Amino acid sequence: YAAKVTGGRQQHYDPALDARASQHAELGAELRTGLDESQFFMVYQPIVALPSGDTVAVEALVRWRHPQRGLVSPADFIPIAEHNGLIVELGAWILREACTRMAHWRDTLGARAPQRVSVNASARQLSEPDFAGTVAAVLADTGLPPRCLVVEVTETAVFDSDTALDTLRAVRALGVRIALDDFGTGHSSLGLLQTAPVDILKVDKSFVDHVGTPGRQAVIARALIDVSNHLELTAIAEGVETAAQADELYRLGYRYVQGYHFGRPAPDPMFSGSQHELAA
Ligand code: C2E
Ligand code: MG
Ligand code: MG
Ligand code: MG
Repeated sequence: YAAKVTGGRQQHYDPALDARASQHAELGAELRTGLDESQFFMVYQPIVALPSGDTVAVEALVRWRHPQRGLVSPADFIPIAEHNGLIVELGAWILREACTRMAHWRDTLGARAPQRVSVNASARQLSEPDFAGTVAAVLADTGLPPRCLVVEVTETAVFDSDTALDTLRAVRALGVRIALDDFGTGHSSLGLLQTAPVDILKVDKSFVDHVGTPGRQAVIARALIDVSNHLELTAIAEGVETAAQADELYRLGYRYVQGYHFGRPAPDPMFSGSQHELAA
C-alpha cells in the first residue's frame, strides 16, 4: 500500500482497489447487455436423499457466458447485479427459467423427475414490494405447482431488509417452501429460526468440511441437525465432497445432502452422463 498523508490523517491508497472498482463498473454495464443478449444460462445441482442417493431436488444456479471474459462466476456478478439493481430483472428471469425447466422435467420424466427446484433470491429481491406477486405469476404461467418450488435466502438477506420477513411470509402462503442458505455464516441468530417463515436449513459447507474431524468446528454440524429436528425443519448439508463426509453426516442424522461428491451443477443433471459443469 502507498500511504497518502492528508493533514495528519492517513489514508491508504490501494491501486488494486481502484482496478476492482472500475472492473465493477464495467461488469455492471455489461450485465445489461448480457440480459438483452441472452448470455445467461442455468445449471442445476442435485440434492440427494441418504441413503438411497436419489435426486429429490435440484438447486438452480445461474451462469454468465461472457463473450470476452468467458464463464463469469455468480460470486463475481451477483453482488454487482444487487448493487446496481439489475438483480431484480435477472432474478425474475432466473425464476422463470428454473420453473419452466422444472415443469418440463415433470412432463417428460414423470415419477423420475425431481420433486422440487430450489432458486436463490437475494436481499434486493426480497425488498421488492411485489416479489411474492412475481413468484405467483411465474407459477401460474409455467403451471408449476407451488410445492415444487423452494426459494433460498441467506440470513443476511433476511436481516438486511425490513420487509424480507413479510415477503417470505407472502411467498410461503403461496405454498412455496423457504430455505435458509449458508446457514451459520451470516448474522446467525438461532432466535430467527423460531419466528422466521422457514422450512429448510442449508448447513454451510464450512461446517460440512470439518465433519468427522476432531475439534471444535465439527461440533456445529452435529448441533445443527438437532436444532433442525427439534424445530421440524429439513436440514440439507451443503458442499459434501467426500464419501467419508457423507457417511458421517448420515450417522449424525442428515438425510439430505448436496455437493460435488453427488453431482456438480450441470445444464441437465437429470440426463447428463457426465456430471461435469459446462466449460466456457
Ligand atoms: P449457494 O447458493 O450457497 O450455492 C452453492 C454454491 O456452492 C454453488 O456455487 C455450487 O456450485 C457450490 N458447490 C456445490 N457443491 C460444492 C462442493 O462440493 N464443493 C465446492 N467447493 N463448492 C460446491 P456457485 O454456483 O458458484 O454459486 C455461488 C453463489 O452465488 C451461490 O451460493 C449463491 O449465493 C449465488 N448464486 C448462484 N446462482 C444464483 C442465482 O441464480 N441467484 C442468486 N440470487 N444468487 C445466485
Ligand atoms: Mg443456494
Ligand atoms: Mg448454499
Ligand atoms: Mg454457499
